[in-house]
Amino acid sequence: MTPNVLEKALRDVVIANRILAHEGVVDAYGHVSVRHPLDPTRYLLSRSRAPELVERGDIVEFDLEGKSVGGDTRAPYLERFIHGAIYEARPDVQAVVHAHAEAVLPFTISATPLRPVVHMASFIGARIPVWDIRDNFGDTNLLVVNMAQGRDLARGLGGERVALMRGHGFVAAGRSLPEAIRIGVYMPVNARVLLDALRLGEVTALSRGEIEAHASMKPDDPAMWRAWEYWAVRAGCGDLLSART
Ligand code: MN
Repeated sequence: MTPNVLEKALRDVVIANRILAHEGVVDAYGHVSVRHPLDPTRYLLSRSRAPELVERGDIVEFDLEGKSVGGDTRAPYLERFIHGAIYEARPDVQAVVHAHAEAVLPFTISATPLRPVVHMASFIGARIPVWDIRDNFGDTNLLVVNMAQGRDLARGLGGERVALMRGHGFVAAGRSLPEAIRIGVYMPVNARVLLDALRLGEVTALSRGEIEAHASMKPDDPAMWRAWEYWAVRAGCGDLLSART
């Protein structure tokens, strides 16, 4: 049984990459990982490759410090430290998405907070912190390229589902891979709706109670699987889907 669990996780990371690309959450940049199903001190992430092009053979196993396990010498993502630092800080997190989706970017650089305003985005959480790399690292190229920066970002995320990264993008932490993908897909949707509404005038956001009512959905809820299956087929990788057990 054991190898099948790992094989499924590897296939799921490929699916997750293709979904994020197909739904326009990532382009050449951005990435998604899942915690290793058999070893919580490791995670699975593609080598440095555009998510739309990621295949099974591109997935590399990393330890939480961002070192490849097994001596894979192919170029890794420069920002892989985002993933390990969040897994290290958050035992509840099983999957991490990092993206630069354009619709979200205005909220990383303005004083207007990003809030969940539509029900499908309720699980991004009531409080969405903005992390600024400049606070502790001064002028950089804004990339998270070492564990110190990754851990600082993880502190900025705290116990939340999403953190914005000033002038850069966002990071989403899910209790499962389908949940992380769902957050990733609905982040830009919610941002676009909020931007449009702000042009019209005053905005009503979801209440904390409304957010909690929806966020209590279990990560393995059938509704979660429904979206995962739909997005996977749309992205052309229905053949990689495992039968739901
Ligand atoms: Mn980035």
